[in-house]
Amino acid sequence: MEFSPAFINVTYHRSESMFKKKPDGTFDKVEVRKRPGTVGICAAIMNRYKVDAVAHLICGGFTRQETEDALIDLNFLGIDNVLVLRGDAPKNESAFEPEPGGHRYAIELLQQVMNMNNGIYLEEDLKNAVKTNFCIGVAGYPEKHFEAPNMQTDLAYLKAKVDAGAEYITTQMFFDNAKYFSFVKACRDAGIGVPIVPGLKPISSKKQLTVIPRTFHVDIPEELSSEILKCKTDADVEVVGTEWMLRQSRELKAAGVPGLHYYTLGKPKMVSNVVKELI
Ligand SMILES: Cc1cc2nc3c(=O)[nH]c(=O)nc-3n(C[C@H](O)[C@H](O)[C@H](O)COP(=O)(O)OP(=O)(O)OC[C@H]3O[C@@H](n4cnc5c(N)ncnc54)[C@H](O)[C@@H]3O)c2cc1C
Repeated sequence: MEFSPAFINVTYHRSESMFKKKPDGTFDKVEVRKRPGTVGICAAIMNRYKVDAVAHLICGGFTRQETEDALIDLNFLGIDNVLVLRGDAPKNESAFEPEPGGHRYAIELLQQVMNMNNGIYLEEDLKNAVKTNFCIGVAGYPEKHFEAPNMQTDLAYLKAKVDAGAEYITTQMFFDNAKYFSFVKACRDAGIGVPIVPGLKPISSKKQLTVIPRTFHVDIPEELSSEILKCKTDADVEVVGTEWMLRQSRELKAAGVPGLHYYTLGKPKMVSNVVKELI
């Protein structure tokens, strides 16, 4: 709150389960991670801090009905910003599969939210089908979504999300601003006119040099990776990571970006060190 953020995003995830071996050698499927309290956390943020919360919604693991219920709760709470996403396959599965009765692509989820904005709910005869007023954001990938066959195809699907009603795009993290600038140009050339908010994450450990590319399918520039490899401790890496993100932020801000979206991922200290220098 010290920095008066314009908004705070709250992520969403499906519940996670594992197979536990029983004494007789058979297996039980047990839940090891509950569905998130995204709606509740957003409400707490808005209540306590009077700052806009952006609730993420994903397709994976949710039926259309469950999504509608979450949206009804968000609407009652006055949380009218949502970032609609597909989500990824669970860790033990190789490809994303929608929940039976759920959505396959983010655009389908977006269409559900747009329908509610027009008073169209899943049940035709619903008595209290009030029109909602959600402002919808979607994800964009300066280095291409890892499943897209090429950038042009990925951009065509991104444009379809914008044409269907997305009002802005928040990007996947990137460590080379040139990638963001060329993505914005490619979007504009493809007829995508909405604001494109850059997403940044600070690198905080040597391990992340391999984990980040594997998890998020983004490159880490050689200039940054070589500096990190010289570090003796992760505390030294934090210094390099902070400095790098500060440089990125300064350049983006000077270029007039519509905002900066920081991925704090539960570790706000490095981000707050950057913002202190930036404002
Ligand atoms: C800013 C941001 C926030 C995120 N927050 C979360 C979170 O809170 N929880 C979480 O689980 N994940 C989150 N993610 C990760 C996200 O769920 C994954 O990156 C996921 O793999 C893709 O989501 P999407 O919304 O971009 O999917 P989509 O837009 O559905 O695209 C997925 C893939 O399908 C292709 N595609 C899109 N539409 C179609 C179509 N109609 N027909 C055929 N192909 C199509 C695209 O090119 C792409 O390759 C976030 C990502 C970003 C960038």
